[in-house]
Amino acid sequence: MVKMKHKKIRMTRQRGVILEELRAVKTHPTADEMYEKVKKRIPRISLATVYRNLEVLCGLGVIQKLDITGRQKRFDADTSNHYHIKCIKCGKVDDLYSARPDAIEKAVEDHRGYEVLGHRLEFEGICPKCREAGGKEPDTQ
Ligand code: ZN
Ligand code: MN
Repeated sequence: MVKMKHKKIRMTRQRGVILEELRAVKTHPTADEMYEKVKKRIPRISLATVYRNLEVLCGLGVIQKLDITGRQKRFDADTSNHYHIKCIKCGKVDDLYSARPDAIEKAVEDHRGYEVLGHRLEFEGICPKCREAGGKEPDTQ
């Protein structure tokens, strides 16, 4: 058992390694990208196992799955409520901590009298690195 935040979660070695690898990055990797990282430490692990464990960790609330446009789900070890911005050129997904999701929901509640249960907001742009590189071809992702 590994103690995490307030919960005690049953951690297999595989699950522990997956969580460690996700916590080590800020890149919001896909399951495929996680598989590439985890395989270096557990060579015999399968993509299906990585995927299943990511889903279990999401279900436990230890990590979150991001609803970002694109073919594959991305994963984030930061479970706080924050927005993301995606680079349309390189596909990189960055955190946005300056815009507050709870402030927007409060504003909507105050304006319309609804109890807001949730919302989706996704930012798109061109990251500083791609802006510097100039007219690079867009990524197909
Ligand atoms: Zn970029
Ligand atoms: Mn994030």
